[in-house]
Amino acid sequence: MQTALPESLLATPEGAEADAILRKCVHCGFCAPTCPTYQLLGDERDGPRGRIYLIKSLLEGVSDGAATRQHLDRCLTCRACETACPSGVQYGRLVDIGRAHAERKSLRPLPSRAIRWLMRRTLPQRVWFGAAMRVVQRLRPLMPSTLRRKVPAGVELAPWSPIPRARRMLMLKGCVQPALAPSINRAMARVLDAVRIQAIEVDEDTCCGALSHHLAAADEALDFARRNIDAWWPQIEAGAEAILVTASGCGTMVREYGHLLRHDAAYAEKAVRVSAMCRDPVEVLAAEDLTFARSDGDSTIVFHPPCSLQHGLKLAGRTEQLLSQLGYRLGGIRDSHLCCGSAGSYSILQPRISRELRARKLANLMASSPSLIATANIGCMSYLQEVSPVPVRHWIELIADALPAAAPATPSVDIDLGVPGAQ
Ligand code: SF4
Ligand code: SF4
Repeated sequence: MQTALPESLLATPEGAEADAILRKCVHCGFCAPTCPTYQLLGDERDGPRGRIYLIKSLLEGVSDGAATRQHLDRCLTCRACETACPSGVQYGRLVDIGRAHAERKSLRPLPSRAIRWLMRRTLPQRVWFGAAMRVVQRLRPLMPSTLRRKVPAGVELAPWSPIPRARRMLMLKGCVQPALAPSINRAMARVLDAVRIQAIEVDEDTCCGALSHHLAAADEALDFARRNIDAWWPQIEAGAEAILVTASGCGTMVREYGHLLRHDAAYAEKAVRVSAMCRDPVEVLAAEDLTFARSDGDSTIVFHPPCSLQHGLKLAGRTEQLLSQLGYRLGGIRDSHLCCGSAGSYSILQPRISRELRARKLANLMASSPSLIATANIGCMSYLQEVSPVPVRHWIELIADALPAAAPATPSVDIDLGVPGAQ
């Protein structure tokens, strides 16, 4: 595609990057059928090709921010279009640049700014969000059933500590997951322990920054990234071999740290290393002996692959393959490449489109009458659970269920390295 971005914009890193991405697009339209919002709304401007054209016009100064923003707001950032594109157009990066530019060009209406500000101030704050969630969970029995389904029941985890091991991996705590589903990281730590790897969580880590990043608060997102790098660095220098992220949405963001901080002299090198160390659970466990977790396959489950897992981390099919190897009977899913509608803050900001996508996704997931839906991202899990007739769980919890309930699987101590902050 030919472009005519102003020289002043081309001189900036974002302008140069956007121009390079735009020039790769040949307007073939192969991406359109994979776009959930294009399928739903049937408007070219709500599909990837139309949005790319809108971003180009915006960056060239031909159109104003307000008109473009409406269509960019409706984009889920699911990146299904990226997977489908034969020309390698990095739509995810382009839409982030386009959104930031639209914000700068025209001010949002006050209610829209207010809700975005409120989300950015509350959701990424692990301690405050956790405290608020505990209060809400206490009120749960008094809530009407529709509201109760939005609030997961509180979970009291039995005390458990990983055994010191020679192999150690950091694990992101994140922001909302410890309050909504603390069982996920616990399950991950227990499974790692069973394959003789010690999970390390550090209290200083924070939100991965994805929420701020997708709400066009780029500087705030970078601050989250820097805080995580600082929090993890002592453990990385002490020999942690990977950074495990059990929410694929957060994993996609951590993988981007190297790119996002490339112009920060103090953090660029560290960020590249952190991104290279980031692993989804399936990348670690596919290489381990999980014989203990073999399923007798007596009931059908379905796996909902989050967009961040298949289009962001490019790990499509890997978790399904591992579960099948372990004997799980997996039901097939139509349109498994399509988003469930959760998409971070999308379900709050675009409720009508989001609910329609969830209804379609759930119908497809339930077509094989599964006893359970497994997935790999806290956002999809919570959102589907609100309306699902069957339990929705992180797949790592299924693997952990096969472990003995109380003591760690292996009572021996590999080696005590005395690493500070390990817990
Ligand atoms: S993004 Fe890719 S698939 Fe879509 S129109 Fe451009 S070149 Fe074609
Ligand atoms: S990221 Fe998803 S919603 Fe946005 S244009 Fe691409 S396919 Fe459509």
